[in-house]
Amino acid sequence: MIWQRKIDDALTARRSADTLRRRYTVVQGAGRWLKANDQRYLNFSSNDYLGLSHHPRIVRAWQQGAERFGVGSGGSGHVSGYSIAHQQLEEELADWLGYPRALLFISGFAANQAVITALMEKDDRIVADRLSHASLLEAASLSPAQLRRFTHNDASHLTRLLDVPCSGRQLVVTEGVFSMDGDSAPLAEIQRAAQTRKAWLLVDDAHGVGVCGDEGRGSCWQQRVKPALLVVTFGKGFGVSGAAILCSESVADYLLQFARHLIYSTSMPPAQAMALQASLSVIRSQEGDARREKLAALIQRFRSSVNHADFTLAQSHSAIQPLIVGENARALRLADTLRRQGCWVTAIRPPTVPAGTARLRLTLTQAHEPEDIDRLLEVLHGASE
Ligand SMILES: *Cc1c(COP(=O)(O)O)cnc(C)c1O
Repeated sequence: MIWQRKIDDALTARRSADTLRRRYTVVQGAGRWLKANDQRYLNFSSNDYLGLSHHPRIVRAWQQGAERFGVGSGGSGHVSGYSIAHQQLEEELADWLGYPRALLFISGFAANQAVITALMEKDDRIVADRLSHASLLEAASLSPAQLRRFTHNDASHLTRLLDVPCSGRQLVVTEGVFSMDGDSAPLAEIQRAAQTRKAWLLVDDAHGVGVCGDEGRGSCWQQRVKPALLVVTFGKGFGVSGAAILCSESVADYLLQFARHLIYSTSMPPAQAMALQASLSVIRSQEGDARREKLAALIQRFRSSVNHADFTLAQSHSAIQPLIVGENARALRLADTLRRQGCWVTAIRPPTVPAGTARLRLTLTQAHEPEDIDRLLEVLHGASE
């Protein structure tokens, strides 16, 4: 009875605040189109920024990997689940991003949890950007270290927090490109603040890697910053899934001893590592450059054509273009109207984003065509009248 009340009350509270989350069953959810309800929608809600989820070479690499290695890895990497495909991918990632080592994880969520819980102890302090991803903030609050949050992208607030005496070590945490706002962190300033206080810096570049910087090396490369810990994920620009942590030799050796998400969890299928190698090679190639250029042109087209009387654009030059609408119910209504006109967008509401900032999180991808952007704008402007 008491259990049941807890569950019912929580659901009722979400429903009445218009914050109940629900899933939609799709037939296809990545790329230009989203297929669901026997219909095809223009898809403005996937993170497949470079349109690689259906790339023939990457699909074939996964198929060939499955034929060669089977569909599963057979165990944790510490037992029998670390194959030649995993090793090659780690070496290629390290070489690409200019780090001594890379360690693969099953997801970005797991990588962030693993690194933070393996490194942080009581008396240590994590100083994280206020808008950091849930996987980072949750790991920080689960760890025995103290958590302090600095004002979004504010290096001087970060500095003040770092200057408060701390008997342990300090870890600064931020993202390259922010997932719900699409803006970029001032990484050079943040790195400087961390360095002068002997803090380590962790940058989660889930939305930058593959998409920005020379050869798609991401936000850190673009801003000439080299954090002690760089987290990259493969469910977005790479079009696949999984993640890696880039770090020094000794940190990699340390994580292999103490990161429980690596030790007690089945490693990704080797076939997936093969697909990721194929994805990386596309990202590094001229084809990758062409994909990034097309995406940049689509972003530009969108931003230059939004009617400012109807919507306020965010400070974002990335593929994530949120339109902040404020109220939860209004965001849901707009998303619904857009969907009825063939454009699939997601209303993002608290607690994913701060209260009063419900938004349509529009994502553009290389798989879109210019006329798709025009159609989106037409429907958006119609819906706001
Ligand atoms: C998506 C995301 C993650 C989680 O990565 P998954 O591989 O999807 O688990 C972590 N950090 C940021 C910033 C993200 O946007």
